[in-house]
Amino acid sequence: MTLALSYGRQWISEEDVDAVRDCLRGDYLTQGPRVAEFEASLRRATGARYAVAVSSGTAALHLAYEALGFGPGDTGVTSAISFVATANAFLYCGGSARFADVEPDTALIDIESLRRVASTGPRPKIIAPVDLGGHTFDRLAVRRIADDLGAMVVEDAAHSLGAAYTAGGESFLVGSCAHADAAILSFHPVKHITTAEGGAVLTRHEHVYQRLLSLRSHGIHRDPTRFVRGAEDPYAGPWYYEQTELGHHYRLPDVLCALGTSQMKRLAEFVTRRRELAALYDRAFASDRFASKLRPLEVRAREGSAYHLYVVQLIERVGESLRDVARRRRRLFDSLREQGILAQVHYIPIPWQPFYAKSGAAEYPGAESYYARSLSLPMFPAMEEADVARVVAAVEEGLG
Ligand SMILES: *Cc1c(COP(=O)(O)O)cnc(C)c1O
Repeated sequence: MTLALSYGRQWISEEDVDAVRDCLRGDYLTQGPRVAEFEASLRRATGARYAVAVSSGTAALHLAYEALGFGPGDTGVTSAISFVATANAFLYCGGSARFADVEPDTALIDIESLRRVASTGPRPKIIAPVDLGGHTFDRLAVRRIADDLGAMVVEDAAHSLGAAYTAGGESFLVGSCAHADAAILSFHPVKHITTAEGGAVLTRHEHVYQRLLSLRSHGIHRDPTRFVRGAEDPYAGPWYYEQTELGHHYRLPDVLCALGTSQMKRLAEFVTRRRELAALYDRAFASDRFASKLRPLEVRAREGSAYHLYVVQLIERVGESLRDVARRRRRLFDSLREQGILAQVHYIPIPWQPFYAKSGAAEYPGAESYYARSLSLPMFPAMEEADVARVVAAVEEGLG
């Protein structure tokens, strides 16, 4: 029997298993030396000045927003197409979320829509676009809008670890925070590297870094130079620490950091492999067999993409409604399932979620068009050339 191919999955090597086993047999299961090691590997790979490992990508979003001073009454803007966590984290902080539309053929934040949303209604404190599928949003344009409004930028780079983008003719690594105040990563098994569950915040601001460290662990610190009542506490001793704000327990344990550091050794290889697989798909879907039926998502910065997803879009027939295209997309999805190909749809527009829809029925034509026509096909580094061929054949069969 041939194995089902899902849209994404982890690749755990024997070295990864050894790294975890060594940690399990050592002195620290949590908060030992492996946390700093993992953070150093993230800094090296992204060029970020500071990296803070946390328990999930969602925790990373919450901490990043909070450490940047986002709080009750504040408004954040993200893309209508992202995972719900990008918006939810604004609400964890007591603020609210608004949405900019996306370009229907790239699924990336639509700059004109962002400008409109950000300059009407409450002024956003944070703009948090997502590198959907591993393809980078327009860093310079977003930064310019943020600067005009005095807003901060958080890159949701959960899909784009290992990606690069160009701005003003220069090349930058995603996560370097060259055009952002912070960036977040996720290490969920479908992402580029995994720690089972895990995430990280990257930043270039020292004060944000200090705040992240505090908020990651209950708002507690042990730095004597910052003690508020340490000298006055007649019972103080080497055990002394102070809680100076309300933090969380968002730490990532040593066992998982050991896995992360081991996985990071193969990040470049993983990303290269994803680009190779994307090129194989691109070539296959450029064939006449697919003309006027289906095309890959438009990727502007192909060379730099980290290809978290490989998305294809059905092409609308003349006079066909989006609902009709969506019906054909559904038939393709079902046919792929029957053939053992577990495609997915990333994502349902967040403002359509019942939780968000109650706050008004704004329209997102770009997000709607993208959502109706798109499918994510299998894309993970352990795939073989034959797997790509199998998916392509199944798509051809499914299109009928
Ligand atoms: C995976 C993901 C997250 C959240 O990551 P978790 O580690 O699952 O909490 C946030 N944003 C996007 C775009 C993601 O894909």
